[in-house]
Amino acid sequence: METPITPDERRLPIGTLSSSYAALPTRFHTHVKPTPVSDPRLIAVNTDLARVLGLTLDQFDNSELAALFAGNLLPQGGTPLAMAYAGHQFGHWVPQLGDGRAILMGEVIDTVGVRRDVQWKGSGRTPYSRGGDGRAALGPVMREYLVSEAMHALGVPATRALAAVVTGERVRRESLMPGAILTRVAASHVRVGTFQYISSLRDTDALRTLADYVIERHYPRATEAANPYLRLLESVVARQAFLVSRWMMVGFIHGVMNTDNMAISGETIDFGPCAFMDEYDPGKVFSSIDTMGRYAYSNQPKAAQWNLARFAETLLPLIHPDGATAVTLVTPIIEGFTTQFEAHWLTGMRAKLGLVTERHDDQGLAQALLDILHGHNVDYTLAFRLLTELLCDDRASAQLLTLFPHPAVMEAWLMQWRLRLDVEAMPPADRRDCMRQTNPQVIPRNHQIAAAILAAEVANDFGPFNALLSVLAKPFEERPEVYAYTVPPTDSERVRRTFCGT
Ligand code: AMP
Ligand code: MG
Repeated sequence: METPITPDERRLPIGTLSSSYAALPTRFHTHVKPTPVSDPRLIAVNTDLARVLGLTLDQFDNSELAALFAGNLLPQGGTPLAMAYAGHQFGHWVPQLGDGRAILMGEVIDTVGVRRDVQWKGSGRTPYSRGGDGRAALGPVMREYLVSEAMHALGVPATRALAAVVTGERVRRESLMPGAILTRVAASHVRVGTFQYISSLRDTDALRTLADYVIERHYPRATEAANPYLRLLESVVARQAFLVSRWMMVGFIHGVMNTDNMAISGETIDFGPCAFMDEYDPGKVFSSIDTMGRYAYSNQPKAAQWNLARFAETLLPLIHPDGATAVTLVTPIIEGFTTQFEAHWLTGMRAKLGLVTERHDDQGLAQALLDILHGHNVDYTLAFRLLTELLCDDRASAQLLTLFPHPAVMEAWLMQWRLRLDVEAMPPADRRDCMRQTNPQVIPRNHQIAAAILAAEVANDFGPFNALLSVLAKPFEERPEVYAYTVPPTDSERVRRTFCGT
């Protein structure tokens, strides 16, 4: 018989934790504590992030930190709770989702004055667990840790990873896997699905409470607008248009863009079966559950817009008492997503191509390159980085051409590009330095993530994880010593499917 583990009643003084979300009506959340685990061990603590959050973790030893980040030991302050939400999953309405395996530890005000959530993920069952075990497996925890930190380093808004532990327990997925818990940090965990859930209660006061909370926390200037809720919608649309354009620039595929996985703050959230593409392919899908390719790379802007339309629907009663008028007000905002996204995309592509001025045919130049990369199955990240380096290094030029089975097509494109560059007077080294800021040398390549996970699962070796993590922290610097991490996978290394791990 299993002996129940008694929670440690001591509380760790890690900093000033509060819980503004706990003050919202009880139907928004449920108070629940993590379920203790048998043998927590620390995998990683993000000391830089802890410092930014004003948390004083260095006074504790590893066993205390392992207990904290496993939920065996609670921090002082903060009210642990699970948030209620709903959502459209692959287009289908699910009226009740919620934090089924995540528990909000509390909120901190970081060193620049921003309120941020600290949340355990994988910390045990909650009233929203439905059939699930409330746990997370080591692989997905490591993936989220690596990818969310890499996204941050790449300048893409994203939740962050504060710590990870193994639990000493096994979880049943495709097979028995080591259990783990991630502690993540978000501007907030309010999702489109949170609005959908409250909206489904048909309680306009509750909806207004949520919208006001979000405005105060994320979009305080909306209160100055004639219609603050319309401004809220505009603001979220603007942030999402920017966010998804950033994903496209780095070749990121979220994989599960359900409305419950879209944060109102505009941060990338819920790194499930996400992955970066190697060779450029607009139709690329990694997720094992995305059988129809709904969330394929090039469908992401449309998917975001669809989610935003669902968000807009929830706000209608706040925007105008007359439903038809409210629809008339929100429709151009949702339609305007496309224009905003395209503008961000083009700005981003100009930067990737090293262009500092705007010409009407820049879009065509960028698209032509992407078409060539697609047609020749060429690695996206490597191609743009070599394009950067070739400005001052002929070897990079030769290396770039070796990526193409028929280099003549690429040579013709390069001529076009050079003609376009000639329009702008800029020393090549300066242009290269600009391009280095947007064309990363390293991304979290799927096969490297898989290798790091395998080493940890099979041999309890976190060396590859730590090495990858430190390489990914500086993606834009030119470092010959990280060359091994810039190489696309061989056919045998290639990862074709990623799993949610839920
Ligand atoms: P996800 O696909 O990870 O975004 O999760 C979708 C929903 O399923 C959310 O409500 C999660 O909290 C819930 N969920 C996912 N995995 C588990 C699990 N192992 N136990 C309980 N709930 C889960
Ligand atoms: Mg989710």
